[in-house]
Amino acid sequence: MKHTLHLKRREFLRSAAAAAAAGMAGGLAGPSLFASGDPVGEAARKVDRLPRRKLGYSGREVSVLIGAGDMASALAEAAVLCGVNYWHKANRWSGGEVPAAVLKNREEHYCQVTVDRVGGNHETGRFDEEAHYDFVKETLRSTGLGYFDDMQLHYGYHNRAEVKSDRSFIRAFERLKKEGLVKHLCLSQHGYAGNARVPGGESAAAVLTAVVEDGLYEHAQIIYSYGQDAEIDSFLSFARRKNFGTTAMKTARGLGRMKQDGDFMAALPEGTAPHNALVRWLTTATELDTVVIRVRSLEEFVETFSGAGKSLRSGDARAIAMMTARADGTACRLCTACQPHCPRRVPIAEILRFERYALDDGDRSKARALYAGLDRRADACAACGTCVAHCPQSLPIPDRLAAAHSVLA
Ligand code: SF4
Ligand code: SF4
Repeated sequence: MKHTLHLKRREFLRSAAAAAAAGMAGGLAGPSLFASGDPVGEAARKVDRLPRRKLGYSGREVSVLIGAGDMASALAEAAVLCGVNYWHKANRWSGGEVPAAVLKNREEHYCQVTVDRVGGNHETGRFDEEAHYDFVKETLRSTGLGYFDDMQLHYGYHNRAEVKSDRSFIRAFERLKKEGLVKHLCLSQHGYAGNARVPGGESAAAVLTAVVEDGLYEHAQIIYSYGQDAEIDSFLSFARRKNFGTTAMKTARGLGRMKQDGDFMAALPEGTAPHNALVRWLTTATELDTVVIRVRSLEEFVETFSGAGKSLRSGDARAIAMMTARADGTACRLCTACQPHCPRRVPIAEILRFERYALDDGDRSKARALYAGLDRRADACAACGTCVAHCPQSLPIPDRLAAAHSVLA
């Protein structure tokens, strides 16, 4: 019985994707496409078709919310039905996990392979042309995707000098491109200013500006959430002028914690919901091109994706202001501005990133494993308070570190 249902699901997806590809405009709501009681179809119908935007110099039309290879399969199916056509971390689909609608309509989708440094983590590892080349080939074999549209450097460069001096990743890309296996270069960029394990590390905005000026990459994923971030906002304007694509990541700062607070939720303006307000703001009130956002259930999928491309109502703007105020006291925006000022070289942003995985994404085992891999943890903090003066959101960093340690240790 389970097998039969699975086959019906696959047939359904083929029909829906074919209908979409054939230009059945006017929304998804054609009742014939959705069996009643089908929760994935119902979720997609509530969201409807997502708007698209041009991404970078290639001018590719990409859904304003992109998907990810680590989405639960039902969520990925719903996303396909709503027109999501760009897939971050598509290499995570291995062993037959690629959604049937993506494989069947491969040319309709942009699939990205995310490539890490080797011989360590994103701080201590190195670039290696042969290893990157082999990794992409191996993931092509395991996914059966045939080619990747984008080859992404995960975590990005440590500083501007590295952008120019180490071309190993670029060389691997160029070899693969010649073989028709990849098409575009992109990166996700974290900040490394003041990082004790990355000598000469610089901020994400500084590195990204150098990347755009270098002219080889087409687009980037950037840590971005509510609250003022003048340096990144300035970069977004620069990127747009240069026709360089931008995607926001790690957008739901503190949202998981807010949603567990009944009093906070009850105080939100009537008719608003946190993920919905967040996506309205990201997709209409910023200079971003696209957004990747983690959702954990079909209910959250509907709340989130139904806000894509819709303007902020007055209640949403008030909700964003409330979310910002709450997050500024509880959840780090990962800007790394505090990092150079810690005399104990505590990896503040890394620890508070892992705290977000645990408390906002509900992913405690991943967060604890990452925390266990740190060579210096939150209990190295002397509570001197030096860092707090450098935090744009005046986060009570020593308190947050202590709280993170109790969750992650
Ligand atoms: S309070 Fe802790 S994290 Fe902040 S600067 Fe002092 S030792 Fe470093
Ligand atoms: S603690 Fe503050 S300064 Fe440090 S990374 Fe987080 S938001 Fe930025």
